[in-house]
Amino acid sequence: MNGNEMKVGLLGLGCVGCGVIRALSRNQEEIERRAGRRLNIVAACARDLNKERDCDLDGIQLTQDPQQVVDHPEVDVVIELMGGIDPARELILRAIDQGRPVITANKHLIALHGSEIFAHAEQKGVNIAFEAAVAGSIPIIKNIRESLSGNRIEWIAGIINGTGNYILTAMEEEGRPFAEILAEAQRLGYAEADPTFDVDGTDAAHKLTILASIAFGIPLSYDHVHVEGISDITSENIADARSLGYRIKHLGIAKRAGEGIELRVHPTLIPRSRLVANVAGVMNAVVVKSDAAGAHLYYGAGAGGDPTASAVIADLVDVVRTLTTDAENRVPHLAYQPHALSDIPILPIGQVTTACYLRLQAIDRPGVLAAVTDILGGLGISIEAIRQREPDIQGADGSVPVILLTHEVPEDRMDQALSRIEELDDIVAPVQRIRIELLK
Ligand code: NAP
Repeated sequence: MNGNEMKVGLLGLGCVGCGVIRALSRNQEEIERRAGRRLNIVAACARDLNKERDCDLDGIQLTQDPQQVVDHPEVDVVIELMGGIDPARELILRAIDQGRPVITANKHLIALHGSEIFAHAEQKGVNIAFEAAVAGSIPIIKNIRESLSGNRIEWIAGIINGTGNYILTAMEEEGRPFAEILAEAQRLGYAEADPTFDVDGTDAAHKLTILASIAFGIPLSYDHVHVEGISDITSENIADARSLGYRIKHLGIAKRAGEGIELRVHPTLIPRSRLVANVAGVMNAVVVKSDAAGAHLYYGAGAGGDPTASAVIADLVDVVRTLTTDAENRVPHLAYQPHALSDIPILPIGQVTTACYLRLQAIDRPGVLAAVTDILGGLGISIEAIRQREPDIQGADGSVPVILLTHEVPEDRMDQALSRIEELDDIVAPVQRIRIELLK
């Protein structure tokens, strides 16, 4: 450390990197009063040094080579805001080797390589902070890891991808199809040029992996998350949900269930009366249910330069405060002591039990519904509601949509039912299934 000043090396001058520079400069005095010392960015890197930046780079040594920032002789702490796996992974490991704490917003990297990074950091007594990796400005990591440490956490359900929530909200409010809203979101800059990770659930799965690990004290288990995206959700599904008192949200769910943990990202019908059902547009929200505290809802901006910088700087202040503490007395990276992680299994999706919304396209003939209910009844699946849509929306083939809500059923049993239903002559299209969560 250099006197009473903390010197920071910044990897990346993009949306979040510039947000950090702006907030550190705007709130310098406030932050210094909290941290007990001045936090100064002394070196930073970007690929293109000629690009116009939305922040003041005066006094910062700039380079195109991120390694120069990590190796900079004056740097006390490194902030990684480049994104992606390589070279971010090697740079973080290199900073750890030099005894420098690292702050990162890189959920992709932490979900896939966090175990390696934390093990290396623990060996070297170095702190790694990653609040900004999940839900942007919302201090969800700190809350689960520290404020709820007296609880047994039962489940977490989160709207943890703003782009997906923006699309579903606009589909409901404007009655327009998925592809049209996505194209518009890209035009307006709400969605990335390549929105794959946002709409196919990968980004939410990265964040869910981190949340589940700190909530249940399990290793980071990205490969075991069941992931479904939102691109098959239709305006009809959204209208059905509305008429039945539900709203469709793309949720990341981590839940204790019997002998294992469920980890899944998929579109979900949730009752409209739940607070989290009213989280609209690009906003994020996470509900955490624990035994003593009950249900908590955390809501806020999940992305953007300034909101994400808020979480990065909070980590920076925490790291500064703990620099002189013994490594073993710090809050563990994954909330639980590294030797105390549990080997409780992650359940395969077939063993997950949920209620379901089913949408069938059936030829409007006597006996079809009876055949469907026979199949479901034969497999012990009970039906909560059936709704046959009006004949005025009959398809050219004489088919009509039939909506069914079932009670809770193990997924593998529902799979069997659906394949038998789809074999019926009068069922003319694959059955659509969307899981239901009451979030009680
Ligand atoms: P971004 O706008 O794409 O910025 C990335 C920055 O890193 C750019 O300045 C880029 O340089 C620089 N960079 C990338 N590779 C480099 C390399 N090999 N050498 C030198 N510089 C390199 O990304 P972002 O949106 O700020 O996101 C940064 C991280 O925060 C990611 O891990 C992301 O997942 C995470 N995050 C972002 C948000 C958000 O709202 N954007 C929210 C939460 C978490 P150029 O500018 O010259 O291309």
